[in-house]
Amino acid sequence: MADSFDVIVIGGGPAGYPAAIRAAQNKLTVACIDAWKNRDGTTAFGGTCLNAGCIPSKALLESSELYHRLREEFSVHGIKASGVEVDVATMQKRKAGIVKKSTDGINALFKAAGVTPLQGRGRLLPGKRVEFTAHDGSRRELTAKHVVLASGSEPTPLRSAAFDGTSILDSWDALELAAAPKRLGVIGAGVIGLELGSVWRRLGSEVVILEALEDFLAIADQQLAKEALRQFKRQGLDIRLGAKVTAAAVAGGAVNVSYTDGKAVQSVTVDKLVVAIGRRPYTDKLLAAGTGVELDERGFIKVDEHCRTGAEAIWAVGDCVRGPMLAHKGKEEGVMVADLIAGRYGEVNYRAIPSVIYTAPEIAWVGETEEQVKASGRAYKVGVFPFLASGRARAMESTAGFAKLIAAVDDDEILGVHIVGPLAGELIAEAVLAMEYSASSEDLQRTMHAHPTLSEAVHEAALAADKRAIDSLNRSP
Ligand code: FAD
Ligand code: NAD
Repeated sequence: MADSFDVIVIGGGPAGYPAAIRAAQNKLTVACIDAWKNRDGTTAFGGTCLNAGCIPSKALLESSELYHRLREEFSVHGIKASGVEVDVATMQKRKAGIVKKSTDGINALFKAAGVTPLQGRGRLLPGKRVEFTAHDGSRRELTAKHVVLASGSEPTPLRSAAFDGTSILDSWDALELAAAPKRLGVIGAGVIGLELGSVWRRLGSEVVILEALEDFLAIADQQLAKEALRQFKRQGLDIRLGAKVTAAAVAGGAVNVSYTDGKAVQSVTVDKLVVAIGRRPYTDKLLAAGTGVELDERGFIKVDEHCRTGAEAIWAVGDCVRGPMLAHKGKEEGVMVADLIAGRYGEVNYRAIPSVIYTAPEIAWVGETEEQVKASGRAYKVGVFPFLASGRARAMESTAGFAKLIAAVDDDEILGVHIVGPLAGELIAEAVLAMEYSASSEDLQRTMHAHPTLSEAVHEAALAADKRAIDSLNRSP
């Protein structure tokens, strides 16, 4: 095997592996080094997303939602089921199969594209050299014309509730539980807390989520967050805001969590505690001295808008650099960098990154929240369409939530779209495309949407921004 490549990518997650594939499509010689090891000792490309993040969580969300709907919602349709049981072992096996198919898929894609897969650790040395240490401990020095760093992130630990893998869990542990704990505690009402809290709630756990901030989903549009909180509370998620955890003591197989809620010291006892307070960039042993690559004060690799580090021909993409920690954001950065390396055009539109929370109802948005637009001082208009007024949503028995569109008063530019409701994660794609093409709300208003579809909610929200919705009263819910 060659020791010299046009491009070496360090990290084979959703930022690194697309960079490698696109570089190969651009007729460059490429190696992708990845260190991922599963708990059974097997190796796999795909990083956090495929092995312990996006894909396994969505598999469990789907299974648990089906179980929940069968028990709680099917009777409305006249479908009666008795003796419904959940078999978590089969659910976990299905999940593991989906993960394996997805990670095997990367090997096949690498083979077809001509990417050299290298499983082990990569370390950037000065002068565009990379030290590769295989899992068996053997070492080689490789050289490249360009190096792309895509080493990802890891869960942020909490000193007062340190991970122990048995009682105090990270998100990967929480995806591997063999049974629903009777009482599940989660620290952090963010994306992971809500998704995994929903999974285990649907499978029977009593779930308490402790969130330090007073505002629920502070990063989201607050009208959206308010509606989502209402729905989650109805589902029995016990979300406690303004709860600052001070200690977590494991005793007798249970965890006693102490927290202050602004008034007094409180405590709650759970059987398992998941800590999901965010993730931090992972760059452990990635950079030798003298590479010229710099980290910022939070540990992210410093890059410009094209993901160039300060060091010549060294790039960095995905969770290890600034911006939202999302697989699709990393993927677009990886593709951009591979195109720029090949002398082609490449750009990421950081203003149009969709966010999706895969709960029921789903939550999705793109662009600015109403709070952000208000703070910017730009005059704006808002259109809201409730799913209650959607024929398709009624037919699906999924009428909770709404679609909301915010547009500028001066030139009608779409500034943000926020959806809480059925398949919001799919619906948001239209808004992303509209914003990518700098569409006005009138452009959306004049675009025909099939009837009866959920997508009509986005259409009607655009119309509502000018008080011209046909199927609603043009009022905010
Ligand atoms: P990673 O996926 O972390 O991949 C980095 C890879 O680099 C790893 O395989 C790592 O082992 C390897 N590596 C690190 N250092 C080295 C080294 N020195 N040498 C060789 N290899 C190295 N995002 C979404 O967009 N949608 C979702 O639905 C979603 N769900 C999630 C659910 C959970 C439970 C979690 C934890 C995350 C979720 N995310 C989701 C976030 C998503 O997983 C990350 O944003 C994404 O994986 C980041 O991709 P990456 O390639 O930058 O890093
Ligand atoms: P997050 O940033 O989404 O949420 C963390 C939450 O914990 C926040 O609400 C924060 O206020 C709270 N918090 C922080 N410190 C706390 C403390 N000491 N006590 C109580 N609450 C505290 O982070 P996450 O949920 O851990 O997810 C990590 C990353 O993974 C996110 O960046 C997210 O984008 C990504 N992710 C994405 C998806 C998705 O796209 N659907 C799913 C899962 C994870």
